Amino acid sequence: MKNYIDIGINLTNRQFHNDIEHIIQNALEATVTQMILTGTSVKGSEEALRIAKEYPTVLYSTAGIHPHDAKSRDNQSIGKLKKLLVNKEVVAVGECGLDFDRDFSPRDQQEKCYKEHLELAIEVQKPLFLHERAAFTRFMAVTKDYLPQLPKAVVHCFTGTLAEAKTYLNNGFYLGFTGAISDTKRFAHLEEVVKYVPLDKIMIETDAPFMLPKNVPKANLVKYHERRNEPAFLPYVAQSIASFKGITVETVALETTKNTKDFFGI
Ligand SMILES: [Zn+2]
Repeated sequence: MKNYIDIGINLTNRQFHNDIEHIIQNALEATVTQMILTGTSVKGSEEALRIAKEYPTVLYSTAGIHPHDAKSRDNQSIGKLKKLLVNKEVVAVGECGLDFDRDFSPRDQQEKCYKEHLELAIEVQKPLFLHERAAFTRFMAVTKDYLPQLPKAVVHCFTGTLAEAKTYLNNGFYLGFTGAISDTKRFAHLEEVVKYVPLDKIMIETDAPFMLPKNVPKANLVKYHERRNEPAFLPYVAQSIASFKGITVETVALETTKNTKDFFGI
């Protein structure tokens, strides 16, 4: 039977407050059998691990500081993340990277924080969960120095150009796709990208509560939470990939699940 793995959900986001049990149950009923909770700050990463430990072999987590949060980093941050990474439930370093779209943290602080994450991943030898938005050129320039020693890496929620996707693939990176690919107005170019990227380099994610897929039927949306994405909607991301590539959704489920298990060792 087919199943799906969501490589990125922000379950500690306040939109899921008091709703976690129910959200996980919905996901399991939608055959989303495993989920990786994204850590976006030291505190958020600690909280993600605490939740993951309550659902062994179903939930996992990452430990990192989102570029938006780079300004919150202090001298103890990386040490705290390193402690979290000792746990078997914490399967990746991140999310980390550069975000020049909104610049919520100054760019020099983002870079410093990102470099420390790259060094941390090399030290603990766990995969990297990367975030890059409107920062491709600088992101590759920073990353290049570390490439020879770098563990496996996935660029999550990819929304860039085909040329950028090609560069990532050439450097051995995987790409994570979200419901953004179903947004044919804002992200029409992603159809071409999805067609190009080999299935064995693709993983899927909801990035919930963000990035609600456009192809979720209105009737499936939760009352009072009509704009909130949840891991139960992951199969809609797989459906978009299947239709772009002209393959079955079963194939997408099978292959992305295999990629994810191999990549994160879960
Ligand atoms: Zn991100």
